[in-house]
This record gives sequence, C-alpha cells and structure tokens, in this order.
Amino acid sequence: MEHNDKARILVAGSGPAGLIAALGFAGAGFDVTLVGPEANTADGRTTALMNPALKVLERLGVLAELRTQAAPLKAMRIVDATRRLIRSPTVTFRAGEIGEEQFGLNLPNKTLIPILARAVSAEGIHWLKSTVASWSLDAEQAHARLADGSEISAALAVAADGRLSPAREAAGIRASARPYPQSALVLNFGHRSEHGFVSTEFHTETGAFTQVPLPGRRSSLVWVVKPETAQELAALDDAALSARVEEQMQSMLGRVSVEPGRQVYPLSAASPGRFARNRVALVGEAAHVFPPIGAQGLNLGIRDIEDLIGIASENSSDPGSRRALAAYDTRRRPDIWARSGAVNLLNMSLLSDMLPAQLARSAGLNALGSFAPLRAFFMREGLRPGSGFRAIAGGLRKPAEH
Ligand SMILES: Cc1cc2nc3c(=O)[nH]c(=O)nc-3n(C[C@H](O)[C@H](O)[C@H](O)COP(=O)(O)OP(=O)(O)OC[C@H]3O[C@@H](n4cnc5c(N)ncnc54)[C@H](O)[C@@H]3O)c2cc1C
Repeated sequence: MEHNDKARILVAGSGPAGLIAALGFAGAGFDVTLVGPEANTADGRTTALMNPALKVLERLGVLAELRTQAAPLKAMRIVDATRRLIRSPTVTFRAGEIGEEQFGLNLPNKTLIPILARAVSAEGIHWLKSTVASWSLDAEQAHARLADGSEISAALAVAADGRLSPAREAAGIRASARPYPQSALVLNFGHRSEHGFVSTEFHTETGAFTQVPLPGRRSSLVWVVKPETAQELAALDDAALSARVEEQMQSMLGRVSVEPGRQVYPLSAASPGRFARNRVALVGEAAHVFPPIGAQGLNLGIRDIEDLIGIASENSSDPGSRRALAAYDTRRRPDIWARSGAVNLLNMSLLSDMLPAQLARSAGLNALGSFAPLRAFFMREGLRPGSGFRAIAGGLRKPAEH
C-alpha cells in the first residue's frame, strides 16, 4: 500500500460490506484499519451481484478469481404462484433487451467472502480480528475500544457492522426495525434440465421462492415461508425436500436433488432515520435491511461504499467532517429509500389478503409484461439508479440530433 498522509478510516465489521469497504478505501489511498472477526466461511447463501457491482469488484482486483465459480444471469422471470383471485402474468426480463449480455453473476458466499478476506490481507490492510466493545464519538474523531482491550481512533468510522449495528446506535441514529413473519430456507440443488442461465422468482402467499443459476446443472434457492414452515422443511430428509422443491418449481428444471447444507435466515426490515452522524457513516445492512426479493441488498451496499469513498476522497483531509457526512446522507437517501420501499411494498403485497394490494401488484406486473419500454426502464433502473431515466432522456433527445 502506498504511504500517504490521508486521514485514518476505521471500518467496523468484516462481512462482505466491511471487506469491500476496507479494500475500496485502501485503494483510494486512505490509511485503513478493519475491525471484525475472522471471515465467515460457513455462509451457505449465494449473492447475485449486478454488472455495476461487478465493475467495483473488478477494480478491487477480485473479479477474475470470483468468475470461475459464478454463473451469469441472462434472464429473470417472475411467476405468480399464488392461488389468489387476482393473479399476474409471468414476466421475463432478458438482459439482451437492454443490450447487455448478462445482468450479473450469481456467486456462492463461501467463495465471495474468503476471496475478499484474502485480498484484504494481500493488500496489507491492518485487520484487527476482534470486535468493537464500545464507541466514544467526539467532534474530532471516532474512538473505538475493542473487546481485546486495545483502542483505536479515526477521522471516519464506517459502520459495516450489520443489521444491529452497534456503531449506528453509538452515533445516536435510530432505526425503525420490524421482524417479518417470514424466514428464508437457503440451499443449493442439482437438476436434470439446463437452467439456461435464467433465474425464476415464484411469488407465493408466504413470500418469494427464488431459484438462481449456479455453474452446471445446479441452482441456489431462497425459499421464503413462515418461520415454522422453514424449520419443518429444513428437517425433511433429502428425498422429501427434493420432491417439495421440484413441486414448487412446477418441475421446470426436471428432477431435483438438494445438496447438503441447509440454512434458515429469519427476515426483518430496518430503516435508519439518517445514514451518517457523529463521525459514523452507515453502509450495507447497517444502513438498510429488507427481504431478499430481486437481489438488491449487497448491490445497494456496494453503492453505499462507492458513494462514501467518492465523498471521502473529495474531503480527504477530514472525511468524517460534518460537511462530508451531510453530503453522504443526502446522496444515499433517494437510492436507499426507493429500493427499501419497493422491496418492502412488494413483500407486503404478497402477504396481504387485501384486494387493492393484489390488484396493484397484478396491474404492475401486467404493465411490465406487455410494455417493452417499461420493462427496459425497470431493468436499467434495477442495474443502476438513474440509468433508466437517462436512457429515456437519450431517446427523447435523439430526433433533434439528426
Ligand atoms: C437469504 C438471503 C439472500 C440474499 N441474497 C442476496 C442477493 O442475491 N444479492 C444481494 O445483493 N443481496 C442479497 N442478500 C443481502 C445480503 O446478504 C446482505 O446485504 C449482506 O450480506 C450484508 O452484508 P454486511 O456486510 O452489511 O452485513 P453482515 O454480513 O451481517 O456483516 C456484519 C459484520 O459485522 C460484524 N460485527 C458486528 N458487530 C460488530 C462489532 N461490534 N465490531 C466489529 N464487527 C462487528 C459481524 O461479525 C459481521 O462480520 C441476501 C440476504 C438474505 C438474507
């Protein structure tokens, strides 16, 4: 790492957001200290990362290694599998429709997290494998006392310490948190037919059942159900669970065989009132928690990190100043609120028995299914906020250019 006299950044949390933040800040020339436990190698989930997030990983030098274990996402399909009065047509989003070869890649977290952790070590980033036991925040610096008794101070504390975020609490940022009556059963499975790099999200009365391609004839599954159902499903033997998965998939991929390693994640939502205060800036799940629909969470987290590094670089002598934190808060609000709002609304509309909610969801999916420009707009916005609007503006300007 180059020696420089830029301010010190303390990144709290060694999940994917913390590791990416540490790499990104170090790459931008900051003096980075990462505080968090050894990387988690037991996370059985996969993460679908869209092309803009992959560009960030490419800049950090980790994409080539990740690619070998990832599957491209060329199309995403939404199937209404509810048995409700008002049902929606199947909508398919194809990357080719907006001139992209793929929307992104689906990566096992067991690959993603260790590769990021190795890159952090290779970069020579100071990583204290402990946790922050308490924070003291003053006008000049953030001070952290670690569980091992040591202390560290920094101009900016990056809170990548997850959904309960002790750093967020120390900064006096309130987050309205609510548990959902849902859990996600997560596993990988093999299947007889080719997936064709298509991900299918079945909407059910208890949440989304999402199949995402992995290399070969394999896919990952996030099956959102009531918490007690998730436990019942997780306790089934392989043959019975495989049959349930195949039935839920309407045998779209032929015979299914689940792989070892099932995990259950309770779902919740959390929205902080602001995204930075008192020398602390929130990224990743410290800044937003919502159910896993449409692969938004870490993609949004990576945009938090990009924006924070950009603003810190513009304020490099004091990246934790009031001015810098106010700029970060303002920049992140629209994106985080729009994504969290849309995902929570869609999730609630699945759970709701109310006719207006079902009508609204059905009308939205109908419009998307039948009107290609609207579909293209949502696909572009799904990849990067603002790009759908820019494409429309470009299209409107075109006649005048000739
Ligand atoms: C079932 C499921 C599927 C998902 N699929 C996708 C997907 O396909 N695409 C996508 O973009 N997103 C997806 N997400 C969301 C994504 O997983 C999260 O956005 C991401 O894991 C959040 O990472 P994080 O680093 O912010 O938090 P975490 O992974 O929770 O990491 C927090 C870290 O902080 C550490 N920590 C806590 N307290 C302290 C402390 N006091 N001091 C130091 N360290 C501390 C913890 O030990 C941990 O290492 C999914 C989520 C779920 C539940």
